[in-house]
Amino acid sequence: ANLTQLLTEQRKHVTPALSRLHDHIIVKGQGSKVWDETGAEFIDFNAGIGVTNLGHSHPAVTAAVIHQAQQVSHVQCSIGFSLPYLQLVEALRPMMPHESLDTFFFWNSGSEAIEMALKLVKRATNRNNVIAMVGSYHGRTHGASGITRSKPIYTQHTGPTMNGVYATPFPYWHSLGVDPSTPEDELVRLAIYQLELLIKTQTAPTDVAALFIEPVIGEGGYVPAPAAWLNYLREFCDKHGILLVLDEVQSGFGRTGKLFAAEHVPGFKPDVLVFAKGLANGYPLSGVASRKELMEKQEVGSIGGTYAGNAVACAAAVAVAEVFKTQPILENVNARSKELFDALYAIRDSPKTGHLVADIRGQGLMVAVEFRTEADPLTTKGLAAGTAIPKDIGKRIQKKCHDNGLLLLTTSCFDTIRFIPPLVITKDEMAQALKIFNAAVEEVAR
Ligand code: PMP
Repeated sequence: ANLTQLLTEQRKHVTPALSRLHDHIIVKGQGSKVWDETGAEFIDFNAGIGVTNLGHSHPAVTAAVIHQAQQVSHVQCSIGFSLPYLQLVEALRPMMPHESLDTFFFWNSGSEAIEMALKLVKRATNRNNVIAMVGSYHGRTHGASGITRSKPIYTQHTGPTMNGVYATPFPYWHSLGVDPSTPEDELVRLAIYQLELLIKTQTAPTDVAALFIEPVIGEGGYVPAPAAWLNYLREFCDKHGILLVLDEVQSGFGRTGKLFAAEHVPGFKPDVLVFAKGLANGYPLSGVASRKELMEKQEVGSIGGTYAGNAVACAAAVAVAEVFKTQPILENVNARSKELFDALYAIRDSPKTGHLVADIRGQGLMVAVEFRTEADPLTTKGLAAGTAIPKDIGKRIQKKCHDNGLLLLTTSCFDTIRFIPPLVITKDEMAQALKIFNAAVEEVAR
């Protein structure tokens, strides 16, 4: 088949409402690399937006998928169990960031799992309202986009979304309108003030079913939640009988250097944990974990879904869990993370490129660099007068990196490049990628 011709002719018939970074066909993926229809090779720092955490076509995952497809590919979850469904429950229980998360429901996507969590918290508390974080992204379905606060586009022109959603600032300098150099404890103090103000002025806490939070804000700019903020939220929720839902769709399965980002705060206990992406390394599967007592507050038969917990996807996830158990994936994340941060700090500290950088943040291999932009004076505060800041720094770097064999993503908000390579990326691949990135930054700075 002539792939270029296929691409040219058929892409016109794919909805134009789908944005696409590159008009290429990825025909092969192996570990941290992918190849397009022309044979061009790329180091993949997108990993399908933080999905193929164990690398493309991981042999153990592929073998599990082939095996399960040969046994039985679909067992509808309200009719019976597939073997991998129960094996996955068994594998996940000891992996949960808190032992109280002992009861599971599987779905296909992160958004659907968020929908499930929304219904779960409302049914469990008999309350209607929800508090979300400014900057958060929870998905594009109606309920999930209704609690998303990263960009208005997801709900634009779709009429009223779910009622009773309130948003409070994340302890992040952008949401609070303060300098990027503001110390973390001050950010937390300001965010606490805003949350307390919210329940004094906008909704009674006794009407709030749950608070939804990403432990590392994802699409909204890659901002880790300070431990003091999460600890405060736990106390706040306990005080008011509010459930705490942790969205680890992007941060879960090793991404931040722990199996779940919640573990960065010792003893931290979410009431509901939502996960997807890395769970099955590319096969559509998501999950909600909670306490049995909360799960029991839903009518039997009120939840379910045709493909929910698909047998092949569950088999992939069981293989993923086994890899985490037997291989030093997290050690690699932490070693590569240090190399990545060191390289970004060097860019910030260099007289050639430092003036471009507003902020560097993240955890493990969920890292971002934010560039200064004239459009946001917060990011240029303190710059020597007359320093020129190029426009669209992130997009230009992204393009140059692509042309030199490195796939990178921006985030939805602000001028930010994010780094989410497969967690198995090697030292050499990281060095090669950083060389390409550095050269692109220097070129833009010139
Ligand atoms: N929550 C978070 C934190 C996410 O990053 C995403 C996807 N980027 C979602 C939910 C939605 O997941 P999905 O795209 O699988 O519906």
